[in-house]
Amino acid sequence: MNNAELIEKSSKLFINTYSRYPVAIVEGSGCRLKDADGQEFLDFLAGIAVCSLGHCHPAVTEAICKQAGTLLHVSNLYHTVPQTELAGLLVNNSFADRVFMCNSGAEANEAAIKLARKHGGEGRYEIISLEGSFHGRTLAAVTATGQPKFHKGFEPMPEGFVYAPFGDIDALEKLISAKTCAILCEPLQGEGGVRPLAKEYLAAIRQLCDQHQLLLIFDEVQVGMGRTGSLFAYEQFGVTPDIMTLAKALANGLPIGALLTSEAVAASFEPGSHASTFGGNPVVCAAGVVVVETMLGGGFLDEVKAKGDYLAAKLAEIAKRYPRIAVGGRGMGLIQGLILTPEYVSRGTDIVNSLFEAGILANFAGNIALRFLPPLVVSREEIDLLAVALDKIFAELA
Ligand SMILES: *Cc1c(COP(=O)(O)O)cnc(C)c1O
Repeated sequence: MNNAELIEKSSKLFINTYSRYPVAIVEGSGCRLKDADGQEFLDFLAGIAVCSLGHCHPAVTEAICKQAGTLLHVSNLYHTVPQTELAGLLVNNSFADRVFMCNSGAEANEAAIKLARKHGGEGRYEIISLEGSFHGRTLAAVTATGQPKFHKGFEPMPEGFVYAPFGDIDALEKLISAKTCAILCEPLQGEGGVRPLAKEYLAAIRQLCDQHQLLLIFDEVQVGMGRTGSLFAYEQFGVTPDIMTLAKALANGLPIGALLTSEAVAASFEPGSHASTFGGNPVVCAAGVVVVETMLGGGFLDEVKAKGDYLAAKLAEIAKRYPRIAVGGRGMGLIQGLILTPEYVSRGTDIVNSLFEAGILANFAGNIALRFLPPLVVSREEIDLLAVALDKIFAELA
């Protein structure tokens, strides 16, 4: 089947929830993808921060195949080796003492919301999140998402969520009441337009949590797992959360989510409080073990930082050459955004489409930033290819 034949079939089968590019991707290796017509793409999205070790990383594939031939699934009524191994790696390399495993980012945030409410106790159920945030599409996670466009048509939203304007600590403090149990935020907003929180802002949020005995929840679904150049983004902010959620890159493409927390907070859940049929599946966790071990291996994260700096410098150069189109870059490690000028934000999607025509996958986030999330194994030569393509597109646009 070629692209046209597959798209013809596909477009009749699915509920129309995605506006998809007119390609059927059939294989991937490293930072390259191939479509059903044999055309190659350079991937600067990595499944939206998922395939961080690159497509079909041999060690991940090997671990998956081996585990699939050993034990595919048992209920969480029983212990398994890969799940325990992955949880051990996460605990030993983070602030956390205990882990809950599920299957996606939204599910990890649901678990965090439930845990924060249970920990808060009678009458303390309200969660403050930030405007421009993204926390997933399930009903509670989407309610926590501080963007009205994701709520539209699904009202009434569940009770107990309020939103603080981004960057305004005084406004946030005013939202704290006797009902508040937690503050939820991404250390760097991904969907919101590659927007990092200032270190001082995050430190002040931590202080408010301590002062009012609130839990601080970091959603590191997108920025965790090496993306920013440290295993977790919070390490670079110098602020430690009480709960952290992970998903996307944790198993390099297999579905997984995880909630990490301290012993004291974990104690609020007891047998029966929360559960997942598939969460912590042995095959998925076997992949996760390879991901964590690879990222902690010699020099991997230093290289992410160095290549992130390289990409940031390339984007800054482009912004300098085309000041009418781009204001500048922002990001951390290998999550980088090129911020468009007010005049050109309406062309964001066109620019992404032009990149697609040039064989490069990227996207437009928060209606402001061209967002680049390559596999963390991206080479400097591949970053150069992106820069050349962007330069050409901007030259034609200017
Ligand atoms: C993608 C994302 C989610 C949702 O994850 P799903 O696996 O799609 O449910 C939640 N939070 C952040 C920050 C994300 O980037």
